[in-house]
Amino acid sequence: MTKHHVPERTCIACRRKRPQAELTRVTRTPQGWALVQGPRSGRGAYVCSDSPACWAEKRLRRALGASAPEVSERLTLALPAGEATHISNDPRSRRAIGGTNV
Ligand SMILES: [Zn+2]
Repeated sequence: MTKHHVPERTCIACRRKRPQAELTRVTRTPQGWALVQGPRSGRGAYVCSDSPACWAEKRLRRALGASAPEVSERLTLALPAGEATHISNDPRSRRAIGGTNV
C-alpha cells in the first residue's frame, strides 16, 4: 500500500492546513494579489474554497494588504457559497495570523 503524499497548503485567513484541492489560489501579480486562472506562476496564497468567513476583507488584509478588498470581492463572486455575512472573529485565529509569510 503506497501512501501518496497530498500537498497541503495553509489558508491565509483561518490558517488551517488543508489539501490544496480544497483551497482557492490567489496569485501575486505585478498589480497586486488577484484570482488568476491558468498558469500557476509567481507567488501564491491560498484561501478556503468553501468557507465564506475566509473571504472577508478583514481576514485577508494581513496577508494581501491593499489587494484584500478586491480579492475578497472576487472570492465572493467566484465561489458558490456566496454567504460572506457570518464572519467569525475568533481571537485565536486572529493571533495566529499575526506573522504572514509574504
Ligand atoms: Zn480558511
